[in-house]
Amino acid sequence: MRRMRNVKIVATLGPASDTYEMIRALHEAGADVFRLNMSHGSHEEIAEKHAIIRKIEEDTGSSIGILADLQGPKLRVGVFADESEMLEEGAKFRLDLDTAEGDSNRVCLPHPEIFAALEPGKTLLVNDGKIRLTVEACGADFADCVVVAGGVISNRKGVNVPDVELPLAALSDKDRADLEFVAELGVDWMALSFVQRPADVEEARDLVKGRAAILSKIEKPNAVERFDEILAASDGIMVARGDLGVELPVQNVPPIQKRLVRKCRKVAKPVIVATQMLESMIESPMPTRAEVSDVATAIYEGADAVMLSAESAAGSYPIEAVTTMDRVAAEVEQDPTYTQIIEASRSVNGGSVADGIVAAAREIAETADIKAICCFTQSGTTALLVARERPRVPIIALTPLVGTARRLALSWGCNCVITGVMDRFKGAVVGAAKAAREQGFAGENDQIVVTAGVPFNVTGTTNILRVAPCDERLIYSTDPE
Ligand code: PGA
Ligand code: MN
Repeated sequence: MRRMRNVKIVATLGPASDTYEMIRALHEAGADVFRLNMSHGSHEEIAEKHAIIRKIEEDTGSSIGILADLQGPKLRVGVFADESEMLEEGAKFRLDLDTAEGDSNRVCLPHPEIFAALEPGKTLLVNDGKIRLTVEACGADFADCVVVAGGVISNRKGVNVPDVELPLAALSDKDRADLEFVAELGVDWMALSFVQRPADVEEARDLVKGRAAILSKIEKPNAVERFDEILAASDGIMVARGDLGVELPVQNVPPIQKRLVRKCRKVAKPVIVATQMLESMIESPMPTRAEVSDVATAIYEGADAVMLSAESAAGSYPIEAVTTMDRVAAEVEQDPTYTQIIEASRSVNGGSVADGIVAAAREIAETADIKAICCFTQSGTTALLVARERPRVPIIALTPLVGTARRLALSWGCNCVITGVMDRFKGAVVGAAKAAREQGFAGENDQIVVTAGVPFNVTGTTNILRVAPCDERLIYSTDPE
């Protein structure tokens, strides 16, 4: 499905979006990738949504990305005798390993590793940071805290410990079971929550065994500190502003977002800006001006994708939310200031032949009247390099591998077309011209730029650049084999 924008839209699925009709409507409104949140729903429900998306893919002829988001080591308190308690500022409150129901003086925090890592003076945040506790004294099975910011604490509320590197395994037993299940099901991206160190990513990669690409969610201060190493170990990144804004002061999030997006663009790995983008649209058909501005900012920064969470998963206006993102993107991308910003922030290219070819492809396409850059790609790497150029002309990524096309659904500007297996350059050029015409990017009398690698079907061989006519007869009469 041809989009009138380059940035991609990720929509999280949930109770508000679990039927074929709804998911198809979201795709038609603009969702390029669907996120399955493994924190909610049984394996059976996940498999159902997966099957629906693949059916929509078949029915619409587009490549759709599926991103499975693993819950990760999320800490939660136990339960209370009265379900909830009000914690007043200045009061004392104890966390311990006692599984008895909690009261206004204490509650269970069933994670012995946390007590081992805590020290007096450290902060614990409960319920998305609304409650702030400072540790005064602690031992192997308790932490006595003072309430610095009060509020209501209730059963199984989430706990964040921002200033401690938690000695927690990156993947819980539930995560391992979920990972294996969705990898076998056939998802395209595996998102890891609360990544703390590059070893966490490597551990997941060993288990995924190439069945999906790996996306690290940056939502811990120590992940921000070790970002370069985590980025090197990952295939993509999510700026997970929800938990990041709990673990760090909220005003730190925008500069981090800008820095992370730039670093990802530089190494040609897709980056998603996520959470609360159109939060008010959970309940309202119209976004706030500030939300529109937030979506626009991520697009001006050159992010690969913007994401909807509860807006599409549990809100009353999922389609309106996708449509809003789609319209904001179309408007921003035709703004001359957008082009200026994107070009000014284009990163220096690497040192390979492929880097040179994609830079030349953009240069030629933008200099002459060229309608599209068509790149043949096996692993998707060449398409990512073309996308890194953020060219002003459309990108068509041609691949015989459906998995590559689905992964590229997350990447800026990549319009994917599945081709047959190519073995001759002339045939490839004809195929590219045909794709450009069929997708509505070019007419018979137009020209395209084609990049490819000979020999075909070998990863990492991009070594040809051809400016070609879209008229097949001309290609046949002029091109060598
Ligand atoms: P979540 O991750 O929605 O799984 O919490 C995103 C975020 O924290 O921003
Ligand atoms: Mn999160």
